[in-house]
Amino acid sequence: MLQVKELCKYFGGIKAVDGCSFNVERGTITALIGPNGAGKTTAFNCISRTAQPTSGEVWLDGERIDQLRPHKITRRGLSRTFQISRNLADMTVLENVICQSQIGGWRDLLKPAMSPEEIDKAMHLLDFLGISRIAHEDGSNLSYGQKKLMDLAALLMSDPKIILLDEPAGGVNPTLLEEIVGHIRKLNEQGMTILIVEHNMNLIMRLSHRIVVMAQGRVIAEGTPAEIRENPAVLDAYLGGT
Ligand code: ATP
Repeated sequence: MLQVKELCKYFGGIKAVDGCSFNVERGTITALIGPNGAGKTTAFNCISRTAQPTSGEVWLDGERIDQLRPHKITRRGLSRTFQISRNLADMTVLENVICQSQIGGWRDLLKPAMSPEEIDKAMHLLDFLGISRIAHEDGSNLSYGQKKLMDLAALLMSDPKIILLDEPAGGVNPTLLEEIVGHIRKLNEQGMTILIVEHNMNLIMRLSHRIVVMAQGRVIAEGTPAEIRENPAVLDAYLGGT
Protein backbone atom coordinates (compact mmCIF):
# COMPACT_ATOMS: atom_id res chain seq x y z
CA MET A 1 0.00 0.00 0.00
CA LEU A 2 2.76 2.43 0.98
CA GLN A 3 6.16 2.18 -0.67
CA VAL A 4 9.13 4.22 0.47
CA LYS A 5 11.97 4.06 -2.04
CA GLU A 6 15.51 5.28 -1.40
CA LEU A 7 14.26 8.18 0.68
CA CYS A 8 16.91 10.75 1.70
CA LYS A 9 16.68 13.84 3.84
CA TYR A 10 19.85 15.80 4.51
CA PHE A 11 20.19 18.79 6.80
CA GLY A 12 23.45 20.30 5.60
CA GLY A 13 25.98 17.58 6.32
CA ILE A 14 23.60 15.58 8.53
CA LYS A 15 22.11 12.59 6.74
CA ALA A 16 18.97 12.19 8.86
CA VAL A 17 17.45 9.76 6.34
CA ASP A 18 19.92 8.18 3.98
CA GLY A 19 18.48 5.84 1.36
CA CYS A 20 15.62 4.41 3.40
CA SER A 21 13.35 1.88 1.65
CA PHE A 22 10.46 -0.14 3.04
CA ASN A 23 6.87 -1.14 2.30
CA VAL A 24 3.76 -1.10 4.44
CA GLU A 25 1.29 -3.82 3.44
CA ARG A 26 -2.41 -3.05 3.44
CA GLY A 27 -4.24 -4.00 6.63
CA THR A 28 -1.10 -4.34 8.75
CA ILE A 29 0.23 -2.57 11.78
CA THR A 30 3.84 -1.86 10.85
CA ALA A 31 6.26 -0.35 13.34
CA LEU A 32 9.22 1.85 12.48
CA ILE A 33 11.73 1.54 15.30
CA GLY A 34 15.35 2.41 15.94
CA PRO A 35 17.61 4.13 18.43
CA ASN A 36 17.42 7.87 19.10
CA GLY A 37 18.41 9.90 16.05
CA ALA A 38 17.88 6.95 13.66
CA GLY A 39 15.75 9.13 11.37
CA LYS A 40 12.26 7.78 12.15
CA THR A 41 10.51 11.11 12.67
CA THR A 42 12.30 12.65 9.70
CA ALA A 43 11.13 9.71 7.55
CA PHE A 44 7.56 10.27 8.84
CA ASN A 45 7.88 13.97 8.01
CA CYS A 46 9.01 13.19 4.48
CA ILE A 47 6.26 10.60 3.90
CA SER A 48 3.53 13.01 5.07
CA ARG A 49 5.41 15.83 3.32
CA THR A 50 5.69 18.03 6.40
CA ALA A 51 9.34 17.97 5.31
CA GLN A 52 10.57 17.93 1.74
CA PRO A 53 12.72 14.90 0.98
CA THR A 54 16.14 15.58 -0.50
CA SER A 55 15.56 12.65 -2.86
CA GLY A 56 13.69 9.38 -3.13
CA GLU A 57 10.09 8.43 -3.76
CA VAL A 58 6.96 7.68 -1.76
CA TRP A 59 4.08 5.79 -3.38
CA LEU A 60 0.58 5.31 -2.01
CA ASP A 61 -1.68 2.79 -3.74
CA GLY A 62 0.35 3.00 -6.92
CA GLU A 63 0.45 6.80 -7.02
CA ARG A 64 3.57 8.82 -6.36
CA ILE A 65 2.87 11.24 -3.50
CA ASP A 66 6.24 12.73 -2.56
CA GLN A 67 5.64 15.72 -4.84
CA LEU A 68 2.21 16.53 -3.37
CA ARG A 69 1.36 19.16 -0.75
CA PRO A 70 0.40 17.77 2.70
CA HIS A 71 -3.36 18.46 2.34
CA LYS A 72 -3.39 16.60 -0.99
CA ILE A 73 -1.72 13.63 0.68
CA THR A 74 -4.41 13.73 3.37
CA ARG A 75 -7.04 13.71 0.62
CA ARG A 76 -5.40 10.64 -0.91
CA GLY A 77 -5.98 8.88 2.42
CA LEU A 78 -2.77 9.27 4.43
CA SER A 79 -2.90 11.15 7.75
CA ARG A 80 -0.48 11.43 10.65
CA THR A 81 -0.20 12.48 14.26
CA PHE A 82 2.69 14.38 15.81
CA GLN A 83 4.73 13.65 18.93
CA ILE A 84 3.48 16.91 20.42
CA SER A 85 -0.24 17.66 20.35
CA ARG A 86 -1.23 20.52 18.11
CA ASN A 87 -4.05 21.65 20.34
CA LEU A 88 -5.42 24.88 18.86
CA ALA A 89 -5.73 27.83 21.24
CA ASP A 90 -9.12 28.83 22.68
CA MET A 91 -11.01 25.94 21.19
CA THR A 92 -13.03 23.15 22.69
CA VAL A 93 -12.13 19.53 22.03
CA LEU A 94 -14.92 19.28 19.45
CA GLU A 95 -13.77 22.45 17.68
CA ASN A 96 -10.19 21.20 17.73
CA VAL A 97 -11.14 17.91 16.12
CA ILE A 98 -13.09 19.61 13.34
CA CYS A 99 -10.69 22.51 12.82
CA GLN A 100 -7.53 20.40 12.70
CA SER A 101 -9.15 18.22 10.05
CA GLN A 102 -10.51 21.15 8.01
CA ILE A 103 -7.12 22.72 7.64
CA GLY A 104 -5.31 19.49 6.98
CA GLY A 105 -3.64 19.65 10.34
CA TRP A 106 -2.30 23.17 10.13
CA ARG A 107 -2.90 25.84 12.74
CA ASP A 108 -5.44 28.47 11.81
CA LEU A 109 -6.58 31.39 13.89
CA LEU A 110 -10.17 31.23 12.69
CA LYS A 111 -12.72 29.12 14.47
CA PRO A 112 -14.15 26.49 12.15
CA ALA A 113 -17.59 26.71 10.62
CA MET A 114 -18.95 23.43 11.89
CA SER A 115 -21.67 21.74 9.86
CA PRO A 116 -24.12 19.39 11.63
CA GLU A 117 -22.56 16.49 9.69
CA GLU A 118 -19.07 17.37 10.93
CA ILE A 119 -20.31 17.73 14.50
CA ASP A 120 -22.01 14.32 14.28
CA LYS A 121 -18.91 12.71 12.84
CA ALA A 122 -16.57 14.31 15.39
CA MET A 123 -18.88 13.33 18.28
CA HIS A 124 -19.03 9.78 16.96
CA LEU A 125 -15.21 9.61 16.86
CA LEU A 126 -14.88 11.12 20.34
CA ASP A 127 -17.36 8.53 21.53
CA PHE A 128 -15.40 5.73 19.80
CA LEU A 129 -12.30 6.93 21.67
CA GLY A 130 -14.18 7.23 24.97
CA ILE A 131 -13.81 11.00 25.36
CA SER A 132 -17.16 12.39 24.18
CA ARG A 133 -17.85 13.58 27.74
CA ILE A 134 -15.10 16.20 27.37
CA ALA A 135 -16.16 17.37 23.89
CA HIS A 136 -17.05 20.85 25.11
CA GLU A 137 -14.08 21.40 27.39
CA ASP A 138 -11.26 23.73 26.43
CA GLY A 139 -8.67 21.65 24.57
CA SER A 140 -5.83 23.22 26.51
CA ASN A 141 -7.22 21.88 29.82
CA LEU A 142 -6.79 18.26 28.80
CA SER A 143 -4.25 15.88 30.20
CA TYR A 144 -1.35 14.87 27.97
CA GLY A 145 -2.99 11.52 27.24
CA GLN A 146 -6.41 13.06 26.49
CA LYS A 147 -4.72 15.36 23.98
CA LYS A 148 -3.31 12.28 22.25
CA LEU A 149 -6.84 10.88 21.95
CA MET A 150 -8.13 14.24 20.71
CA ASP A 151 -5.42 14.27 18.03
CA LEU A 152 -6.37 10.74 17.05
CA ALA A 153 -10.00 11.81 16.62
CA ALA A 154 -8.87 14.76 14.45
CA LEU A 155 -6.78 12.40 12.36
CA LEU A 156 -9.74 10.10 11.74
CA MET A 157 -12.00 12.94 10.56
CA SER A 158 -10.47 12.75 7.07
CA ASP A 159 -11.43 9.04 6.71
CA PRO A 160 -7.83 7.97 6.12
CA LYS A 161 -6.94 4.53 4.81
CA ILE A 162 -3.47 4.66 6.33
CA ILE A 163 -2.45 6.49 9.49
CA LEU A 164 1.04 7.34 10.74
CA LEU A 165 1.22 7.52 14.52
CA ASP A 166 4.27 9.28 15.99
CA GLU A 167 4.87 7.97 19.51
CA PRO A 168 1.20 7.45 20.42
CA ALA A 169 2.17 6.02 23.82
CA GLY A 170 4.96 8.48 24.62
CA GLY A 171 4.54 9.95 28.10
CA VAL A 172 1.11 8.47 28.84
CA ASN A 173 0.27 6.55 32.01
CA PRO A 174 -0.06 2.73 31.91
CA THR A 175 -3.89 2.74 32.04
CA LEU A 176 -4.21 5.13 29.14
CA LEU A 177 -1.50 3.24 27.29
CA GLU A 178 -3.67 0.10 27.37
CA GLU A 179 -6.62 2.19 26.17
CA ILE A 180 -4.57 3.53 23.26
CA VAL A 181 -3.40 0.01 22.39
CA GLY A 182 -7.05 -1.08 22.35
CA HIS A 183 -8.02 1.76 20.01
CA ILE A 184 -5.15 1.02 17.64
CA ARG A 185 -6.12 -2.67 17.55
CA LYS A 186 -9.79 -1.85 16.97
CA LEU A 187 -8.97 0.55 14.13
CA ASN A 188 -6.77 -2.09 12.53
CA GLU A 189 -9.50 -4.74 12.89
CA GLN A 190 -11.81 -2.34 11.05
CA GLY A 191 -9.34 -2.34 8.14
CA MET A 192 -7.07 0.60 8.91
CA THR A 193 -3.44 0.29 7.84
CA ILE A 194 -1.16 1.71 10.51
CA LEU A 195 2.49 2.80 10.56
CA ILE A 196 3.71 3.56 14.03
CA VAL A 197 6.87 5.09 15.49
CA GLU A 198 7.24 4.19 19.14
CA HIS A 199 9.98 3.67 21.71
CA ASN A 200 7.93 1.38 23.94
CA MET A 201 9.27 -2.00 22.81
CA ASN A 202 6.75 -3.99 24.78
CA LEU A 203 3.92 -2.22 22.99
CA ILE A 204 5.60 -2.63 19.59
CA MET A 205 6.19 -6.34 20.10
CA ARG A 206 2.57 -6.91 21.15
CA LEU A 207 0.93 -4.76 18.51
CA SER A 208 2.90 -5.00 15.26
CA HIS A 209 2.58 -7.47 12.44
CA ARG A 210 5.84 -6.26 10.94
CA ILE A 211 8.73 -4.19 12.21
CA VAL A 212 11.13 -2.04 10.18
CA VAL A 213 14.30 -1.11 12.04
CA MET A 214 16.21 2.06 11.18
CA ALA A 215 19.67 3.12 12.28
CA GLN A 216 21.65 6.08 10.98
CA GLY A 217 19.04 6.92 8.40
CA ARG A 218 18.86 3.46 6.84
CA VAL A 219 16.77 0.33 7.22
CA ILE A 220 18.93 -2.30 8.88
CA ALA A 221 16.33 -5.03 9.45
CA GLU A 222 12.72 -5.95 8.67
CA GLY A 223 10.56 -8.78 9.90
CA THR A 224 8.00 -10.08 12.36
CA PRO A 225 8.41 -9.19 16.04
CA ALA A 226 9.86 -12.66 16.69
CA GLU A 227 12.42 -12.24 13.89
CA ILE A 228 13.40 -8.75 15.01
CA ARG A 229 13.81 -9.80 18.63
CA GLU A 230 16.47 -12.30 17.57
CA ASN A 231 18.23 -10.19 14.97
CA PRO A 232 21.84 -9.48 16.06
CA ALA A 233 22.10 -6.35 13.85
CA VAL A 234 19.17 -4.83 15.75
CA LEU A 235 20.71 -5.58 19.10
CA ASP A 236 24.00 -4.05 17.92
CA ALA A 237 22.25 -0.89 16.71
CA TYR A 238 20.52 -0.39 20.05
CA LEU A 239 23.56 -1.14 22.15
CA GLY A 240 25.75 0.98 19.90
CA GLY A 241 23.33 3.86 20.27
CA THR A 242 23.33 3.91 24.06
P1 ATP B 1 14.05 9.99 18.23
O1 ATP B 1 13.70 8.57 18.43
O2 ATP B 1 15.04 10.49 19.24
O3 ATP B 1 12.84 10.88 18.07
P2 ATP B 1 14.41 9.77 15.37
O4 ATP B 1 14.76 8.38 14.97
O5 ATP B 1 13.00 10.18 15.16
O6 ATP B 1 14.88 10.05 16.86
P3 ATP B 1 15.09 12.11 13.88
O7 ATP B 1 14.41 13.03 14.84
O8 ATP B 1 14.46 11.87 12.57
O9 ATP B 1 15.40 10.72 14.57
O10 ATP B 1 16.57 12.68 13.67
C1 ATP B 1 17.52 12.05 12.82
C2 ATP B 1 18.78 12.90 12.78
O11 ATP B 1 18.52 14.10 12.06
C3 ATP B 1 19.30 13.32 14.14
O12 ATP B 1 20.70 13.32 14.09
C4 ATP B 1 18.77 14.71 14.30
O13 ATP B 1 19.59 15.48 15.14
C5 ATP B 1 18.81 15.23 12.86
N1 ATP B 1 17.77 16.23 12.58
C6 ATP B 1 16.44 16.04 12.64
N2 ATP B 1 15.79 17.17 12.29
C7 ATP B 1 16.76 18.10 12.02
C8 ATP B 1 16.75 19.47 11.61
N3 ATP B 1 15.60 20.10 11.39
N4 ATP B 1 17.94 20.08 11.43
C9 ATP B 1 19.09 19.44 11.60
N5 ATP B 1 19.19 18.15 12.00
C10 ATP B 1 18.05 17.48 12.20
